[in-house]
Amino acid sequence: MADIGADPSLGDLSRAELGELLEGEPAYRLDQVWEGLYRQRRPLAEITNVPKSLRRAISELLPPALTLVRTQSADRGTTTKHLWSLRDGHLVESVLMRYRDRTTLCISSQAGCAMACSFCATGQVGFDRNLSVGEIVEQVLGTLQQASSTDRAARGGAINIVFMGMGEPLANYESVWAAVERFHADMGIGARHITVSTVGVIPGIERMAKARLPVNLAVSLHAANDRLRNRIAPINRTYPLRDLARALTDYRRAKRRRISLEWAMIGGVNDTDRDAAELAAYTRPLAAHVNLIPLNPTPGYSHEPSPAERIEHFAAELSSLGVNATVRRNRGTSIDAACGQLRADKLVSIRKGSARARAER
Ligand code: SAH
Repeated sequence: MADIGADPSLGDLSRAELGELLEGEPAYRLDQVWEGLYRQRRPLAEITNVPKSLRRAISELLPPALTLVRTQSADRGTTTKHLWSLRDGHLVESVLMRYRDRTTLCISSQAGCAMACSFCATGQVGFDRNLSVGEIVEQVLGTLQQASSTDRAARGGAINIVFMGMGEPLANYESVWAAVERFHADMGIGARHITVSTVGVIPGIERMAKARLPVNLAVSLHAANDRLRNRIAPINRTYPLRDLARALTDYRRAKRRRISLEWAMIGGVNDTDRDAAELAAYTRPLAAHVNLIPLNPTPGYSHEPSPAERIEHFAAELSSLGVNATVRRNRGTSIDAACGQLRADKLVSIRKGSARARAER
């Protein structure tokens, strides 16, 4: 069998690797298992056209990478957060968001994160480790399997996958890219429906520019001058704004895809007219789109989100400076599932829950 690392899970294997494992079985068995898993998006146990004994043998050899620990819902059931336990006990989260015409799945690429952005809950807890291909792929498969069987969008409908959960995807390039290829080739999800979000890890952006699939690139900018960005997104000290702009220009040229810049609106920190002017000057040559995200509360950051009127004004300011900007409506804040709130910490939520219960008494 090909070298796929120690104790692989089913999601770690490519089609060819599973094929090697099924040697001796009739050739159509591989098609049945693969189609069942990735096209029909069914759990192995439910791929009933494959003999039970074979299903059992596969699951014994390739046990699941993830165990579901907890599911929480918000926004009238349209936002669902799953907390998964990895085999070594680390925890990661993924979020499913249903819209009228599509389903967006926000997945994690690392347990924790080493980028240390001050306003992000994942950055505040620090880094545990990279996720394997299987741990990334199984977040998608597991989430879709959890979605109700009547939910056609989740089962067969249009899906967007965004690497906007925990971790920095371009600091775990190999696994992330293998997962992207799996989503594309085996699940039939188009490159336009896959988004990699990065804080600006330039070597990763350069590799993506050379890769075959033109996936969407989102960059978490949050500041358009080095002094402020060094402070709130410290990776900027390694990959400063000017170098980042060069890498983004190359990506846009290579892929002909519009880049998005993410900007958390932090009251009094990056929401002045001067910030808007700097952001506009940075964005215009890139012809990028700006997403403004009202800052979500996190345990380790005391700043407040910009007031709604300030955000509207900032967006209008950008528009008058020739930049397209939209304000992102936050989903899942009540269950800590919104941008920057994932920290996969059971204790925090339990404590918060009991604090809330006390307050209500
Ligand atoms: N490391 C990658 C992937 C994480 S994506 C990246 O930085 O892009 C998570 C998104 O939420 C990023 O755009 C991030 O900057 C943003 N974010 C982090 N903390 C936030 C907060 N407290 N409020 C709003 N957005 C936040």
